[in-house]
Amino acid sequence: MKRFMQNIRKVVPYVPGDQPDFPDMIKLNTNECPYPPSPAVEQALKQSESDQMRLYPDPTAHALNAAIAKAYGVEECQVFTGVGSDDVLAMIFLTFFNDNLPVLFPDITYAFYPVWCNLFRIPYAVQPLNDNFEIDPKDYEKPNGGIVFPNPNAPTGIAMPLASIEQILTHNPDSLVVVDEAYVDFGTPSALSLLSKYENLMVVQTFSKSRAMAGMRIGFAIGSPTLIQALHDVKYSFNSYTMNRTAIAAGAAAVQDAAYLKETTGKIITTRERTKAALRKMGFVCTDSKSNFLFVTHPKLDAHALFEALRAVHIFVRWFDAPRIRDYLRITIGTDAQMDVLLSFLNDYLKQRGI
Ligand code: PMP
Repeated sequence: MKRFMQNIRKVVPYVPGDQPDFPDMIKLNTNECPYPPSPAVEQALKQSESDQMRLYPDPTAHALNAAIAKAYGVEECQVFTGVGSDDVLAMIFLTFFNDNLPVLFPDITYAFYPVWCNLFRIPYAVQPLNDNFEIDPKDYEKPNGGIVFPNPNAPTGIAMPLASIEQILTHNPDSLVVVDEAYVDFGTPSALSLLSKYENLMVVQTFSKSRAMAGMRIGFAIGSPTLIQALHDVKYSFNSYTMNRTAIAAGAAAVQDAAYLKETTGKIITTRERTKAALRKMGFVCTDSKSNFLFVTHPKLDAHALFEALRAVHIFVRWFDAPRIRDYLRITIGTDAQMDVLLSFLNDYLKQRGI
């Protein structure tokens, strides 16, 4: 084989959820928000001038970072923003996970973590969730080069109490502990309240879910000024202008609208609980998801066959071809009307099979 072929960095890429585009579809497969972003975002977009596009954006993303800092009660030097939390997490892996000891994360979790480890050649060791799909903090008391987990976890939706996160932090004073809070706004207390106590904590959040801005690509990390400075140093060594002008303006507007966030997430939580109860009545087993999705299985149904049947009628959910969770479907919470269509389909599907 030619040398240049041998030298290709071979990776098994992360597979993002499908992005189908049918006018009649019910899209419950990538945990997007069924409601629009804050009206303040539309206002900000109206004010953006195309003439400004010839100019580079502010590499410090000051307007956005300052707005995030104000909204979360921290200093601007504690905020790092990126092109979605995927970008932020990738920078975190690159910046902080440089040990010979393995980085620890759960066996069932966000499937991007092992992909970044392989891409950046970071050793890692997965820690199996217990039989109830919960993270056991004791599994994170072994020597490691860093720790990362979502809270609530994905795709289970199960949240870990802050006391368990503190247990992990106190047992690992020498390790960076990254809490990926992509779904925190749907009813989980944030680890941000622990920041002043633990210098080894970094919290990551996104505008993609609760703020309905997946298409704008905004994510952020909050941590100590020293850690955030290290992240900025790596970012400027890679691509200085990650946040474009529109994202900076729209993101800054969105994060100031706390009332809208509360209203939207409140609606989604109500729909989630109603859907969960209806599914349980039909015999589905659901984890106690604190996210904007449900993770469900049915003892008498083949999950993959159901996934395909739903797809055939343009109801898109997510099925993972992965150990331990092949019998499960992850269903994003849509509007009440969308969930009613789903529930009615499932009702018929069960009836046709005499279940
Ligand atoms: N973390 C978790 C746990 C996720 O499920 C996702 C969404 N795929 C992300 C991070 C990344 O989201 P985004 O890049 O849209 O902020």
